[in-house]
Amino acid sequence: MLETMNEVKVLRDPIHGYIHVRLNVVWECINSAPMQRLKRIRQLGGAFQVYHTAEHSRFSHSLGVYEITRRMVEEIQDLRQGLSEEEKVTVMLAGLLHDLGHGPFSHAFESVTMTHHEQMTRRIILEPSEVHDALVRCDPSLPEKVASVIDHTHPNPVLSQMISGQLDADRMDYLLRDAYFTGTKYGEFDLERILRTLRVRQGKLVVKESGMHSVEDYIMARYHMYWQVYFHPVSRSFEAMLTSLFCRLKQMARQDHPDLKRLPFLIPFLSDGPVSVQDHFLMDEPACNYGFNCLRMSEDPIASDLAGRLLDRRLFQDEALSEKGQRERLRCLLMEQGWDPEYYLLSDEVRQRPYQPYQGMENSMAWVLMETGEIRELSQASEIVEALVQGQSRNDQRLYYPRQLQRY
Ligand code: ZN
Repeated sequence: MLETMNEVKVLRDPIHGYIHVRLNVVWECINSAPMQRLKRIRQLGGAFQVYHTAEHSRFSHSLGVYEITRRMVEEIQDLRQGLSEEEKVTVMLAGLLHDLGHGPFSHAFESVTMTHHEQMTRRIILEPSEVHDALVRCDPSLPEKVASVIDHTHPNPVLSQMISGQLDADRMDYLLRDAYFTGTKYGEFDLERILRTLRVRQGKLVVKESGMHSVEDYIMARYHMYWQVYFHPVSRSFEAMLTSLFCRLKQMARQDHPDLKRLPFLIPFLSDGPVSVQDHFLMDEPACNYGFNCLRMSEDPIASDLAGRLLDRRLFQDEALSEKGQRERLRCLLMEQGWDPEYYLLSDEVRQRPYQPYQGMENSMAWVLMETGEIRELSQASEIVEALVQGQSRNDQRLYYPRQLQRY
């Protein structure tokens, strides 16, 4: 049953001005424990170690995605008239709930637990939880419908395109929000113009040719944000060290190390077994930081050293991997100085193209409605985007190791 509230709730937001909530079910989801937990997870993982104001949470981002989705269904005529009331509620809820499954420190934690946040999001919506119960109270089939938008199996593909396509509410919110909170200007683009020029044609979300320049700007914003913020070597160093600490903790768990008895909430994440929804709810960034504080006093010198380094920002230095034998040379040097290279010589590789359409993969493509009425894939309509698609994809491989090669 779709109940509206007596009065519209408005929440202040620096990106959208206000977030508007009219529906009871949306308000109940916002006030549920799984959503409130997202206030304890930063949106940008280790980026706060580079951009000190990048402390915004997944909660504020989730509200922002909801607000863009709400504006889409209310302000874009094709969606306002073309979607049923039930589809509108479903897609707004999918926008609000799409990040529920995130663990602490974003994607770094996924590599530790080997679970993807999408799977966990799905489980929180479908298995008993406060969010699930709120959805069922509104309509017993709502959990399944919302989950199907998130995993792209909903019969109306436009709903998934709105949340995670190419011109989607998720990306539009995080680029603007991350640019605002890091203080970088690269992520800015004209959201109002894109929303004004969005249409639905042939079951696709398309942008009118007159809005194409703002879409080009948005694609460029993605490109700059990736290299300046998301792939910054310092936040990658933080994330690599976090992964290294968890590898050490897994090793300690295998040996039943007594120090871990004081940190029972970490235990489920230290074996390769499945993690329950309840374990997931208890795991957030304050819990991790408390754990790191306790580990400072650990008898295990590696765990104690890495935990202290993460808390005090004594991060490893980074070096581009450019020549053969470089890794081996560093490995020998570290061993000579008494460092265990398994935990003290780390590496990663990132690769990114701001836009890469794949034939047959609808979600990877953005579409432009030309003045002639023809629909073209974005790189066929824009010379700037065409150049980006045809250029080399940029990749960056780095090694990380302690700044002073003295023994801990
Ligand atoms: Zn998101």
